[in-house]
Amino acid sequence: MNRQQTGLEHFMAGLVRRNPGEEVFHQAVREVANSIIPFLKTRPDYKEASIFERLSEPDRVIMFRVGWEDDQGNIRVNRGYRVQWSNAIGPYKGGLRFQKDVTLAVFKFLGFEQTFKNSLTGLPMGGAKGGSDFNPKCKSDREVMRFCQSFMSELFRHIGPNTDIPAGDIGVGAREVSYLFGQYKRLANQFTGVLTGKGLAFGGSEIRVEATGYGCVYMMEDMLKHHGKSIDGKTAIVSGAGNVAQYTVEKLIELGAKVLAMSDSSGCIHDPDGISAEKLEYVKELKTVRRGSLTEYAKEYGVKFHKGKRPWAIAADLAFPCATQNEVSEDDARELVKNGCMGVAEGANMPTVQAGIDVFQDAPTLFAPSKAANAGGVATSGLEMTQNSMRLSWSRDELNERLRGIMADIHGRCVRYGESDGRVDYVQGANIAGFVKVADAMLAYGIM
Ligand code: NDP
Repeated sequence: MNRQQTGLEHFMAGLVRRNPGEEVFHQAVREVANSIIPFLKTRPDYKEASIFERLSEPDRVIMFRVGWEDDQGNIRVNRGYRVQWSNAIGPYKGGLRFQKDVTLAVFKFLGFEQTFKNSLTGLPMGGAKGGSDFNPKCKSDREVMRFCQSFMSELFRHIGPNTDIPAGDIGVGAREVSYLFGQYKRLANQFTGVLTGKGLAFGGSEIRVEATGYGCVYMMEDMLKHHGKSIDGKTAIVSGAGNVAQYTVEKLIELGAKVLAMSDSSGCIHDPDGISAEKLEYVKELKTVRRGSLTEYAKEYGVKFHKGKRPWAIAADLAFPCATQNEVSEDDARELVKNGCMGVAEGANMPTVQAGIDVFQDAPTLFAPSKAANAGGVATSGLEMTQNSMRLSWSRDELNERLRGIMADIHGRCVRYGESDGRVDYVQGANIAGFVKVADAMLAYGIM
């Protein structure tokens, strides 16, 4: 073990001891520490001020009970969370996830990641994440409404347009954000931009729904362009069928790619003719209106459905993991590389296990980590905050152009901090670029 590895292992041993059993959180910190600990050798000022040690503790964790009544009159209890990670460069900002089985460790990993991602966008936003182990699937609209109202009845005292601005994530779409915002407005007696992802009629922004997926494809476009290639004519596979996956597929189709697969929690479809714009409309309606499974797509279009599988065994030029964390294993990464995959851009948060990232980085495959590739969503949320403060709405074209510019800037920052010997390490580039801005602010504030 060399000195750098010793430093990393020593740091990680302390983190694991202080946060027992929180494997996804350990994984997220290790991925960043791999880049930052060697970088600190070049910045003794950051090291002396223990900036990274301080950044691996959240500013604050809020946990609360959420009691609500189901349609049968039974009293149900869930747990609510908000992890406010860092407000060094702006108010806390990050989504809410409603998914059964989520734990504090999941929100800690997401809040930590969000801090670096938000910094990378260049906008003044700190990092946070939250949500609940409530499962909105198979619940009626009224049940979801009652849950959201109860959840917000506690959360509202911890958030505000200059304090903490939540948004959607898995299980929290337009319906949930609307119920949450309605309850906030009622309790605070204020109409302010306290949540992003709102409906267009009450302060929402054009392009927000599309932003994460579009941004992910823009990142891939920039990576390929930087290496003399383009998206046009390439084949692609996308995991997930939710918000991020749908708009990743939409932009890929627009830029001339052929998308061969999508997946959901029940399995994966393989459509060798490609998912056309019309078929994608079917997926959108299936997932956002009927909330059904992709088995219905397979029946409708006569294609294969692989139960319980993800799309990584299907040969394609480009891969976009857009469903959930740890959905690309080391073996999946090997299979993708073996099949000649030239680029991977992560739409979901931390979808690739560390050993899988190592496989991509040892191969010619270009790899954009989530904190760079999926930052388009939060960047557009930042633009929604700006519009809310100014009480105006920018047009769709203007916002798309801004999003395009922000993704190009993120790519540029990754190259600046990650390029050496003609090769770009996008993981290192994103981690260091995201860290430096937060670290400079923390240095300036003194010790706290
Ligand atoms: P959605 O809830 O809209 O969609 C998630 C999709 O992933 C669904 O198709 C779901 O299947 C599938 N899925 C969820 N869990 C699993 C699992 N364990 N195994 C297989 N499939 C699964 O969420 P989003 O699209 O909003 O988010 C997807 C990812 O992107 C998350 O990691 C999120 O944190 C990240 N992200 C989202 C942003 C946004 O703007 N929405 C911004 C930045 C990151 P089913 O349809 O069956 O439920």
